[in-house]
Amino acid sequence: MKVRLKEKNNEYEFLTKKDTRFLGVRIPNQKGFWDISIKDGIFESITKSLKHNGGILTPKLADIHVHLDKTGTAKRIGKRAGTLFEAIDLMEKDKVNWNENDIYNRASKALNIAWEQGTGFIRTHIDWTTPEVPIAWHVIKELRVEWRGKIEIQLASLCPLDMLAEEVKKIAKIVKADNAILGGFIFRNFRLREKLKLVFEAAKTNDIELDFHVDEGLDKQANGFDTVIDLVKKFNMKNRVLCSHCCSLSIRENSKVSTVLKMAAETGVGLTCLPTTNLWLQDNAIGKTPRYRGLAPIMEAKDEGIPIMIASDNCEDAFYPFGNYNQISNFSIAVLAAQLDERLWFDSISSIPVNWMGAENNINKGSEANFLWYQANSLDELINKTEYKFEIWQKGRFIK
Ligand SMILES: [Zn+2]
Repeated sequence: MKVRLKEKNNEYEFLTKKDTRFLGVRIPNQKGFWDISIKDGIFESITKSLKHNGGILTPKLADIHVHLDKTGTAKRIGKRAGTLFEAIDLMEKDKVNWNENDIYNRASKALNIAWEQGTGFIRTHIDWTTPEVPIAWHVIKELRVEWRGKIEIQLASLCPLDMLAEEVKKIAKIVKADNAILGGFIFRNFRLREKLKLVFEAAKTNDIELDFHVDEGLDKQANGFDTVIDLVKKFNMKNRVLCSHCCSLSIRENSKVSTVLKMAAETGVGLTCLPTTNLWLQDNAIGKTPRYRGLAPIMEAKDEGIPIMIASDNCEDAFYPFGNYNQISNFSIAVLAAQLDERLWFDSISSIPVNWMGAENNINKGSEANFLWYQANSLDELINKTEYKFEIWQKGRFIK
């Protein structure tokens, strides 16, 4: 029995309190329009539709690279960083303020904002600069439990490679026990390969995944990515090692870059593109308009078959004073900065990072009906509009 038509212009209707039907919706990466029936919290049927303009229905979004420990500190830091290394210094100075309450409040606020904008999966890096477990690690572990069912949170250590290599046996055990990811910051380290090898050995021994900040600078000598790829092959860690930034690929010799990308695709390394921080910090000098934008060649990488993910990175901290955990906004920035065809890239903020995190969020018949609905009829409209109606649905029920 039809209970009520929810809204005249929106092509969806409530059939009973438990069952809903969306008519003539678009699903990113699928051609045409679709009628979708939901029954008892499950996608009951998904069929081609003759109707149009029913909005866009997408899976919950994923933000696979954020920094919940650093977030929300920009205002109290006050100063703006010109370069990545200035940002690292400013952030270090702010750490006198980092206690349980401070981190919990800032990270909670960020998670609320992310959730309200449709993010259902987050991987956060957490600064881990001395051998001791940082306070933020404990705090975000608590938040991981608190947010279960709304946002699935993964923790990744962010250790300077030199320290990590020395302490990796101990840190890797903790990371394993906490069901987390082992990560580090790599930039032209002395004896880089030797140190990274120790990290890979520990990851292999403990059966944990890796996630690196790699080559975040416009320096042709920054080629840590090449070593990571080589070690992924050597340690047989296909689809278990994610690299972020790789800015130097944007200025290295083309022929070398295409060889590296081929190797990365073959060995199964993932790549995360963080457009906001790169645009903000790369080629940044006072009084000079940037000429280089620091984005890894993600189009070429995707063409080779490398899984590409787009994420927020820093929000309101020393690395980037803006940012709002809105993955549609990050997607729009990536589309503009890298001149992407928005119709081909939406899975970089949805299914690719979700699958990389070992989860599933596909809109399939029989799957749990967790999804987002946008009142826009194409992705370009979604990017263009400054305001649109947006809904979150969980287990077939309207949440917000
Ligand atoms: Zn980062």
